[in-house]
Amino acid sequence: MADQARRPHAPTAPAAPPAPDAPTPAAPSRRAEGTARRPAAGSGLYAELHLHLGGAILPNVLHAFMQRSAHPLLRRYPTLERLERHLSRPRRSLDEYLRLHELVESLQRPAERALAYHVSRLVRGAYLFDNLAYMELRHCPLLRTDPALPMSARIDSMPRVVELIARAAAEQSGRFPLVFAQVLCMHSALPDEANAAILELAAAARPAVCAVDLAGPTGPYRARARAFERLFVRARSLGLPTTCHLYETPEGALPRLLPLLDRIGHGVQIPLRHPRLLSSVAKRGQCLEVCPTTYLRTGAMRDYAELRPLLRRCFDAGVDVAICTDNAGLHNVRLPHEYENLLVRDVITIEELARCMTAAFRHAFAWGAPPPPALGRLTAAAAHHHLSGR
Ligand SMILES: [Zn+2]
Repeated sequence: MADQARRPHAPTAPAAPPAPDAPTPAAPSRRAEGTARRPAAGSGLYAELHLHLGGAILPNVLHAFMQRSAHPLLRRYPTLERLERHLSRPRRSLDEYLRLHELVESLQRPAERALAYHVSRLVRGAYLFDNLAYMELRHCPLLRTDPALPMSARIDSMPRVVELIARAAAEQSGRFPLVFAQVLCMHSALPDEANAAILELAAAARPAVCAVDLAGPTGPYRARARAFERLFVRARSLGLPTTCHLYETPEGALPRLLPLLDRIGHGVQIPLRHPRLLSSVAKRGQCLEVCPTTYLRTGAMRDYAELRPLLRRCFDAGVDVAICTDNAGLHNVRLPHEYENLLVRDVITIEELARCMTAAFRHAFAWGAPPPPALGRLTAAAAHHHLSGR
């Protein structure tokens, strides 16, 4: 039970650069407490709302880390090309795709040795090459603890994982000033005790942590629906913003969780198979975190064009959509290219692109300000001049 969990200590490292003059935010659905921050103007155009630590790190950074640490995995992947080929191969199912995370997670343990390097490179790349102003990085802290320890000791180690990530991001914030916050993932394959502890840690670790999520294979969702519902009710009672991998696959459909969420991770099965739910999603002001390349890599879709009617249904129903990468490192498709892929294939118009980019900032749990000025100009130009998609 969630409310029987121990309350871990909150990490102390700050999550993001200070913001001296952040204006009043434009009515987001819910926000993490004390997280209103704004980076320097002009420092980025994009807000990334759905990015996993297990899939965010580019293969070249992973391989450089293996070499630096003389990691045993070098025997399996002696060259960067070998590692890239393994990571980028399309998978036949979501479960098979998720096993890629296990490989990266093994490289991110022990956390003390790996996380500072991984996160510092991630923030640097996001600022310099991806044009990000805002990043929510999600991870399951238990999976960065030592699997040889008993569960109680692993749970006790989780605050340290959050602290290491917050500190690594904060150390980069002077040179690469994007707003950074963590989302902690409960996991469908973990016992209730661990998920409850992750939830309590997320609440205690604000503002370094801005929300809680549920991730992992969707196979166990139905059988554990009541337990997951209790966890999200608990998150609500703590005032902790919520998102959840939901309606990503047909078996990941749990309608009772929907009213407990601020955002929906993926949610593409809603416009595909349950379009009648769209009006209530719109009424609750929930945003779908749509990750186009994931659906190609998991075999759920064959082409980006299959998203066209789904996104159209969302827009027509007034449902906000943020385009996200999910696992930009594993896919080697970063956020600006996710948008570009949709635009050049006429999946979305440039007006819709601007609308999705703006929605991402509006639904960002730790942004707390209007979108960056350059995005405001793009939105105005798209609306007034009806710019062509191509
Ligand atoms: Zn995800």
